[in-house]
Amino acid sequence: MLNHYSKNYKEMSNICIFCDNENEAKSVEHIVPESLGNTKYIMPRNSVCDNCNKRFSKFEEKVLTKTVFAFERARFAIKTKKGNASIGKLNKLEFSGDKNFRKNIVSIRGISLDDFKEFDPNTGSGQLVIPGFVGSENATSKFLLKVALESLYKSQKSTFKSHNFNQLKEFLNTKSNIDWPFITTSIIMPEFKSIPRFEDKHHLNEIKCSISFCKLDDKNLLFKFKYGGVTAIINMLDRNLDWIKKYRTLDETLTVLPEHYRKKLSDSTENKE
Ligand SMILES: [Zn+2]
Repeated sequence: MLNHYSKNYKEMSNICIFCDNENEAKSVEHIVPESLGNTKYIMPRNSVCDNCNKRFSKFEEKVLTKTVFAFERARFAIKTKKGNASIGKLNKLEFSGDKNFRKNIVSIRGISLDDFKEFDPNTGSGQLVIPGFVGSENATSKFLLKVALESLYKSQKSTFKSHNFNQLKEFLNTKSNIDWPFITTSIIMPEFKSIPRFEDKHHLNEIKCSISFCKLDDKNLLFKFKYGGVTAIINMLDRNLDWIKKYRTLDETLTVLPEHYRKKLSDSTENKE
């Protein structure tokens, strides 16, 4: 009886939450990447296998060097693992953090006047438009869903257990590579609740990161990732667009990504009217 119990227990604790394989992982899985400054919020041992961890590092690296999160990382003067200033590239804009690690100093190369919106030559001012996720949308969706599932497993076990995340897993295991929509928004959403608690939450706040969730209904379990001034939200259960319609009425500046979902969204709205 005792043997039976310990065998089951051992198996349970060695199952990867993404691919369901038994494993003895050698690497430590950071829920929020170490490259964003997270050192403490990590997964329990063997809950993510080395194969999955390795596969994830490809899209993670893309998000951390080729999206607006990379820009935020440079702005906060986060050091790379080798102790250098972080660098990134958004389309033709290349940027790097301050080499003396002072915050809010970012060097940018490759700017042209076309990058400015409403440029006024008299005052020399305008808005610099940074293409936040161009070419990295699919990687960003995967990145968000990875952080989402891991953080629920770590800090909100009952929510983790009471939902079916098969579509999310298939997407992250690259059995299905169809784009998964997410939004960026600037409005405050009080209905979201922090996933990590106590010290974990505090640690993430210190690195300007917060992760939270909100259950709308059986089809919509939303995950919000905020790093610096950038907030992205994704539905963990499937690719439906219904939840986005609700937020679009509250925030006109809301952006739906990847872009082809924007057309799909406006088509479906017109059909209903
Ligand atoms: Zn795995």
